[in-house]
Amino acid sequence: MTSTNYRRILLKVSGEMLAGEQGYGIQPSVLEGLASEIASVVALDIEVAVVIGGGNIFRGIAASASGMERASADYMGMLATVLNALALQNALERAGVMTRVQSAIEMRQLAEGYIRRRAIRHLEKKRVVIFAGGTGNPYFSTDTAAALRAMEIGAQVIMKGTKVDGIYDADPVKNPNAKKYQEISFLAILNQNLKVMDATAISLCMDNSLPLIVFSLKQQGNFKRVATGEPLGTLVTA
Ligand code: UDP
Repeated sequence: MTSTNYRRILLKVSGEMLAGEQGYGIQPSVLEGLASEIASVVALDIEVAVVIGGGNIFRGIAASASGMERASADYMGMLATVLNALALQNALERAGVMTRVQSAIEMRQLAEGYIRRRAIRHLEKKRVVIFAGGTGNPYFSTDTAAALRAMEIGAQVIMKGTKVDGIYDADPVKNPNAKKYQEISFLAILNQNLKVMDATAISLCMDNSLPLIVFSLKQQGNFKRVATGEPLGTLVTA
């Protein structure tokens, strides 16, 4: 991996991350840790946009498996991402960072609607833009939203902060012999069916040569380390 001077980063945070050890909802200490991580990167004059997931509250696919209509369940999942976005916005502002939430589903009283050029303007003014509501469409994921928004705003990279410190050839929790990749291609991820992001998100990154770094957000300071080019986690390229 080469050290890079990133100017604009899209950080993807899964809902699961926010739940911390409690496994559901938002753990205040995790939220505060995340806000201070983001603040430390913004302080370096790096522009940060965030796509936040909702799996800590509601997952459409899980609800549809128990009988709910998939589209309705997915809209509920998208609403869950708005809850997380507002929580992160509040934590960031308490940490002294200027923010805007833009939602793919219009909710004028609590967030701006998504407007690409306005999002870019906010970033130029050193505001952290939090994208809520995923893509605004059922049957998609917030990983796909991350790939889409990253390209729209001209981010140089997606950094996916997870509970695991990179991509392994098997589940490292279940298999102690699992091997971590320093680098891997999008095509290899698809061919090996590795659970990194869904295939739509991976294809979008691959087709548009948008690099992805998967790293652990569990250790404080990791986002800053990755954002400043330290070779943490796994780098995925086309
Ligand atoms: N979702 C959706 N369309 C999108 C993004 C998200 O329908 O563009 C729904 C989907 O039901 C998903 C839920 O929102 O299960 C939460 O998002 P996701 O599972 O991607 O969150 P994460 O796994 O990152 O916490």
